[in-house]
Amino acid sequence: MPGSMVESLLASIREAGFDPEDVTHILATHVHLDHAGATGTLVRQMPGAHVYVHRKGAPHLLDTTKVVASASRIYGDRMKLLWGAIESTPQERLHIIEGGDILNVAGRRLEVHYTPGHAVHHVIFFDVHSGELFVGDVAGVRLPGIDYVRPPTPPPDLDLEAWSESMNKVKSLRPDVLYIGHFGAVKNNIPEHFERLHEKLYAWGDFVLGAMRDGKDEGEIIAMLIEHTRPELLQVARDPHALERYEIATNYPMTVQGYMRYWRKKHPERLSPQFPHR
Ligand SMILES: [Zn+2]
Repeated sequence: MPGSMVESLLASIREAGFDPEDVTHILATHVHLDHAGATGTLVRQMPGAHVYVHRKGAPHLLDTTKVVASASRIYGDRMKLLWGAIESTPQERLHIIEGGDILNVAGRRLEVHYTPGHAVHHVIFFDVHSGELFVGDVAGVRLPGIDYVRPPTPPPDLDLEAWSESMNKVKSLRPDVLYIGHFGAVKNNIPEHFERLHEKLYAWGDFVLGAMRDGKDEGEIIAMLIEHTRPELLQVARDPHALERYEIATNYPMTVQGYMRYWRKKHPERLSPQFPHR
């Protein structure tokens, strides 16, 4: 969650009948700003809370200097409005978790599973007893009331093979409910949800790869991908604001930058004109 949302989170905790001072655990699925940007601010408001994060994400919470610098390059003047404060988390409040760990939180027993692909520091939290799975961004972006799942593929660690394996891991848990980062609960046809996400993740990746092989630059590929994919969303959503709302959750420029970096870093051979295009 970003720092700009701290006040409304605290209000929701109170509304649910709890005191923020009684919060004991803050679980980070991963450290992207829209999920964990407010962590340092929250621990200051929740004196009893400890933060649980994967080993590869912990350094970015411990010292936010680098994250702030790179986000400032992207967001410029809108930094404060979008993200609020991005404060560091004191070391004594940070706890490293890995796949295979078990956390006991507020009467729940949560299994931690390591799920890279969207981010190299991504984990999910599964309550075996209730079948509820806190799945972060591994299950993509699907907004309430709209039957459409979109792959959030930001740089720098997008990895399609790893993500695909993570989706298989999630399916093998056979969850009854997915709590998606962007956002809400998915209760029906969960295997189908992942089939669609998998298909789209690779289809968009192939589209970007094809455009790169044709010598298009980033700006051109963004425009092409929008043109190519907008109709599929509008077909299911019928709401003219749906596109805008999906764009807030995961935007096209980042989507394309993530794929471009992935192809260059992981499969440079496929960018060569000699490589047969399938
Ligand atoms: Zn993310």
